[in-house]
Amino acid sequence: MFSYTSATAATTELLAREERERRLEQAGYNGFNLASSDVFIDLLTDSGTGTMSNDQWAAMMQADEAYAGSESFTALENAIADVMGFERVVPTHQGRGAENVLYGCLIEEGDVVPNNTHFDTTRAHVAKNGGDPVDCPVEAAGDLDSEEAFKGNIDPDKVRALASDVGADRIPAVLLTITNNSVAGQPVSMENIRQTRDLADELDATFVIDACRFAENAFFVREREDGYGNRELAEIAREQLSHADAIVMSGKKDGLANVGGFVGVRDPDLFERTKQRAILYEGFSTYGGMAGRDMAAMAVGLREAVTEGYLSARIGQVRDLGERLREAGVPIYTPVGGHAVYVDAGRVFPQIPDEAFPGQALVCELYREGGVRGVELGSFAFPETHRPELVRLALPRRTYHVEHLEHIGETAGAVIDRSEETRGLEIVSEPENEALRHFSAELKPV
Ligand SMILES: *Cc1c(COP(=O)(O)O)cnc(C)c1O
Repeated sequence: MFSYTSATAATTELLAREERERRLEQAGYNGFNLASSDVFIDLLTDSGTGTMSNDQWAAMMQADEAYAGSESFTALENAIADVMGFERVVPTHQGRGAENVLYGCLIEEGDVVPNNTHFDTTRAHVAKNGGDPVDCPVEAAGDLDSEEAFKGNIDPDKVRALASDVGADRIPAVLLTITNNSVAGQPVSMENIRQTRDLADELDATFVIDACRFAENAFFVREREDGYGNRELAEIAREQLSHADAIVMSGKKDGLANVGGFVGVRDPDLFERTKQRAILYEGFSTYGGMAGRDMAAMAVGLREAVTEGYLSARIGQVRDLGERLREAGVPIYTPVGGHAVYVDAGRVFPQIPDEAFPGQALVCELYREGGVRGVELGSFAFPETHRPELVRLALPRRTYHVEHLEHIGETAGAVIDRSEETRGLEIVSEPENEALRHFSAELKPV
């Protein structure tokens, strides 16, 4: 059994309140501009911020750094074949590298690409290749309170309507993101995956699963879907992907690694084309921008990601955080998804209009109050899209303890208690590309 030998993310010391206030101001009231040493508990993302196991570290020590034909690549290929069922693998430096490689081979100018919901890098890569990314979530996705089991699902009727609108020949691929990161990490059912397979056949399109959180998704399938209650998580995880023609993966999520990614395909011709494209953008097709040790770590991580003990602790911890927040009176998206708890900042600060970024105000208050760093995913991050004013508190994998969750709950409770006094923010400076402003813009309180 594995244990964890290293903790990452943030400092072990909570800075004094005045010091936090000073650093927040220096950071332009933007959490991305804080140093990790300014942060006590870092919930900015679950991407690459987790703790590796002793087995992963041991594998890294024995990694093969050969340019071509590295044994660590073979170990990764074997893990992907065993855990995910794909024999043809193109390694990449991380998930977006995989998206660039695969979508560059599948999508052409004028194409239309449906997805349950495009994650931001997915949207950008579809658009960059001339495609029009269209979100087709189920109705319940937009209802923050509905207790439906699979709010991450794609709506096949919306995709059919789209196809009859634009013509099926303009849809080269149907994408499905499991879990659905842009819809609060909500899961997708096995039934919905099967329906999407049928849909792709109907449209003569390639069925691509964005598998970043395939293991977390499997946990929900077992818990909530008829016929899966007694099945092994590893088996369910594999069955999900068995329906897809291709997968893109970020090793920074359910690869339990700090970096890395890959494409998996079934078609030999598509395999050749993705390999060629990967050489251009990522590296030779047996390392793809990863060091041998990165591949070695991911090979072990993928196998750990589908184990009982790991997954139930992981999903259980995210739920525990959700429960604590709810008890503290914090309005959250329900049910709680796989990797994060999403807070409805619009309801926390009804006095702050969307133009004054209630989500970003909440991000600042959580830092001010308890050194906790979350991220805004509302009007500040996605201008002009009229999304709910959500703040994501993502839990790094295998990193925090129950005392940390306690601190987060108390911090959020204190923020709620004086929520009426909280003011909004305005932008002082922002980058040219508005779509990327939440990474670097500077703000000030109004
Ligand atoms: C993180 C993520 C990606 C991109 O992966 P990176 O490793 O960050 O480049 C793609 N899709 C989804 C659903 C993700 O969560």
